[in-house]
Amino acid sequence: MGRAIGIDLGTTNSCAATIEAGKPHVITYRDGQKTIPSVFAIDKQGNRLVGNEAKDQAAANAANTVVASKRLIGRSFGGQATEKMKQVFTYELVEGESSEVLIKVKDQVFTLEQISAAILRRIKESAEDALDDEVDQAVITVPAYFNDRQRQAVRSAGKLAGLKVLRVLNEPTAAALAYGLGRTLSQRVAIYDLGGGTFDISIIDIKDKIFEVIATGGDTFLGGVDFDDRLMQYVMHQFLQDTGIDLSYDRTAVTRIRDASENAKIALSSVDTYRINVERIAEDEDGAELDLVLDISRDLLEKLTVELVDRSIETCERILKEAGTTREGIDEILLVGGQSRMPLVRRKLEQFIGRAPSQKVHPDEAVAIGAAIMAHSLSAKAGGHGVTLLDVLPQPIGIAGKGGKMHVLFKKNQPLPDYKQRTLTTSRDDQRSIMLRVYQGESEYVADNELLGTFHFYNIRPAPAKAVKVSVTFHIDSEGILNLTAIDKESGQTVESRLNLGKNDDAPKKKRKKKKPEAEATAPPPMPLNMPTSSLQQQNPLFNAADEEQDTAQPTAPPNTPAPQPVPEPVRPLEVPKSTPAPGNRLLAPKEEKKGFFARLLSMIFFWRK
Ligand code: AMP
Repeated sequence: MGRAIGIDLGTTNSCAATIEAGKPHVITYRDGQKTIPSVFAIDKQGNRLVGNEAKDQAAANAANTVVASKRLIGRSFGGQATEKMKQVFTYELVEGESSEVLIKVKDQVFTLEQISAAILRRIKESAEDALDDEVDQAVITVPAYFNDRQRQAVRSAGKLAGLKVLRVLNEPTAAALAYGLGRTLSQRVAIYDLGGGTFDISIIDIKDKIFEVIATGGDTFLGGVDFDDRLMQYVMHQFLQDTGIDLSYDRTAVTRIRDASENAKIALSSVDTYRINVERIAEDEDGAELDLVLDISRDLLEKLTVELVDRSIETCERILKEAGTTREGIDEILLVGGQSRMPLVRRKLEQFIGRAPSQKVHPDEAVAIGAAIMAHSLSAKAGGHGVTLLDVLPQPIGIAGKGGKMHVLFKKNQPLPDYKQRTLTTSRDDQRSIMLRVYQGESEYVADNELLGTFHFYNIRPAPAKAVKVSVTFHIDSEGILNLTAIDKESGQTVESRLNLGKNDDAPKKKRKKKKPEAEATAPPPMPLNMPTSSLQQQNPLFNAADEEQDTAQPTAPPNTPAPQPVPEPVRPLEVPKSTPAPGNRLLAPKEEKKGFFARLLSMIFFWRK
């Protein structure tokens, strides 16, 4: 049997670690780097590239370079998140048969799992190279706020990469493991994780080797890339003002300015002013090349981005409440993720909690190290020295109730694992199948939540309406992954079931046009959890009756609620702070002014940092 490693599969960079002689080591690759860019591409010759080689050619081959795939994994094509992302990705997204997102690269279509698997395989091979040993098992981390589908997809990607996935672990929990390593603690810690693409906050009680998550929450659309974006918009606006040239037309220019803005942002964490200098960014009317030169102060960067930091603090406030604790109840606050290095983030957090954040974990390495600790603990090699993790469900899971309301089966922040049983019944004589949609999310209405999938229970024995009672068990494991099983109550036989992901699977098929649309099982009003399913059944005769050929579909939203529309990314106004930029800002001469449908490319592009 080979080695087990921990993998921090990031939005922009991925990192791996292992435990050797009881000590964690971040794996260093041949080029001396400790991270691998989470980038996949196919070049002009048709070669598949992963990591640095893919990243290095990204600007010249944007349409065939896949970055930030983590923001899409486990999402459905028509979902709001995907709609938002379609506006900003440079590669082509296509819809799969089950409404899943697929990516087209050079006429080849890939699932998100395949893209992530390519990155994971590169990490596995590089780790084998560095460790001179076979690596065949891993703990892979995910944002705490990831839903069931996203977790399942990461698991599948690991498997495709030839890894036995020992566990899918939440990133903040991994950081807490790294913090607790080698210490005998009895503390309540808050982990603030602001990476390249996502933000997570978790409240965790550490008692020696027991790590108990009390509450978790986050924002899968808040990360370093949003900070880059604010600065990039400012820079382009200044260039437009000074020269009359709208660079938002030019993908290559936008990519270069985004890179330059990120470099400036990172530098401004340690210096007060920084000069952005992008050579030969455009040409003037006479064909003379223009450089973009602009001095940015830390103060200006803070003004441009303070609203993003405030958003994260608001989430912290909410999660503290959900944890039933106060700022005073927090013993330590740990910072994880590259963007947490920004001085403004540290200052704001210190103001909020009333004490300086701990310096005891490495913001870039803690997650991979925690994953390695968990991998070691779960692999046979740990003996009896493992850690105990008690995690919670990040977002509620439920089914459609009356009026399209979410009937919550599992509440947010409830301890894992857990299971619930519900009884479904048929509504028609000889009904042979029932279907049930399961959702996850915090909205009151299922239409605004993520559809985890449609479960079809079929080959139900022929019987009069309501005679068959199918007992469904919803089981969420310790990773927050949902499984359903069903039995015919009378016969005790397992009812066959099939899970389809996405909305298309259960939509009426074209060839069945004349047939009536499917109906969906709806939930009863909330019940005391300890109520036996039989009484549930009696009180709620319609906890049931979803026949795949039935003619009336239950609405998934109340009649007066407009169906949710994909939220197109508006052409964003440039956000310019009222203060004047630092003196010395100079942009060079004008070129013909282009007016910009490509303005939304401003909110793009490439390097979505984790
Ligand atoms: P991670 O995914 O944790 O590697 O974080 C990546 C994000 O952190 C990217 O958006 C980086 O631009 C950002 N980042 C890295 N170092 C710094 C720094 N010193 N100051 C501000 N942001 C940083």
